[in-house]
Amino acid sequence: MSNPINRTGMKKHNFYAGPAILPQEVIEQAAKAIVDFNGSGLSLLSISHRTKDFENVLADADALFRELLHIPDNYRIFYVGGGASTMFYEVPANFLGKKAGYVNTGVWAKKAIKEAKFYGEVETLASSDDKNFTYIPKGFAVPSDLDYLHITTNNTIYGTEYHEDLISPVPLIADMSSDILSRPVDVSKYAMIYGGAQKNLAPAGVTFAIIREDMLERQVRELPTMVSFRTHVENGSMFNTPPVFPIYVLCESLKWLKSIGGVPEIHRRNKEKAALLYAEIDRNPLFRGTAVEEDRSLMNICFVMSEGYEELAPEFLEFAKERGMVGIKGHRLVGGFRASCYNALPKESVEALVACMQEFEHLHVK
Ligand SMILES: *Cc1c(COP(=O)(O)O)cnc(C)c1O
Repeated sequence: MSNPINRTGMKKHNFYAGPAILPQEVIEQAAKAIVDFNGSGLSLLSISHRTKDFENVLADADALFRELLHIPDNYRIFYVGGGASTMFYEVPANFLGKKAGYVNTGVWAKKAIKEAKFYGEVETLASSDDKNFTYIPKGFAVPSDLDYLHITTNNTIYGTEYHEDLISPVPLIADMSSDILSRPVDVSKYAMIYGGAQKNLAPAGVTFAIIREDMLERQVRELPTMVSFRTHVENGSMFNTPPVFPIYVLCESLKWLKSIGGVPEIHRRNKEKAALLYAEIDRNPLFRGTAVEEDRSLMNICFVMSEGYEELAPEFLEFAKERGMVGIKGHRLVGGFRASCYNALPKESVEALVACMQEFEHLHVK
């Protein structure tokens, strides 16, 4: 199924960083459910979250998440509102008693560090700040007296990504907002994984969390009910009204992912898309990538105009826009361009962007 043609008749290629592209069949299914949820004659937008139908959605999402990511039985999944940004303070509120370690890989990591400092000592164990966050720091020591170690597995703004699970002697907590279910991860290496679902799984409004059960015993202070992770685990994400609609779409995204062959297949597709675009960035004399090769993200592909061609950047943006490219302007901290290639982005969109870069090259390089 292809994306709808807009009113100008031009196909749009959606490279937004988030909220971002979702599979077209998921959007169509959601549209149907808004009008008539499961043949009930009622809209998904106006039913109680305490209905059997919605309980089934939560149960399906749980089962699919477990199956797709091979989540071990001693982990629990819950959904809340508030975004990953709320997790930035809830994680330390729950677990930071004395000292936590953080790896600073860019804007989101820095925001997480800032919030953690409200609760205790924060040791920044490694940082790629020295090179404008163009790489993932490696080989740093992790002290064994930390309450936990926090990482950001994909740096949405700078286009860097961990390609291997970090081994940590202390509980490892990861913000996977922008690469969840895009590649295999060994969940057993993590004490907790969380993220805003609006990059790869759902519209804005729901935050997912996968937490190892023993972590719930490690809550270091008394907390308001909504801040404690125990509340959400013990009540199966139903302590208060969960974000019904985004959870429904998340569940449909998981079904879609399973239908195409799960994480191994999406990882293959994501590698293929990224390889196509990085190859063009490396080949085309007008452009260069910003992240170091070994840490390049499969999800957010950042590039700028090569030296000597910098002034062509606004013209390229306009040129690309005229050819249907949407959302490729880079974040203001990096400049240039960012093509977000999340799970639902079809390969044909990457091919269209590559063709556009080649056409632009022929105009400007003799
Ligand atoms: C988008 C993003 C966030 C922020 O998520 P919100 O849900 O808007 O709070 C945090 N971390 C990463 C890695 C992101 O990509």
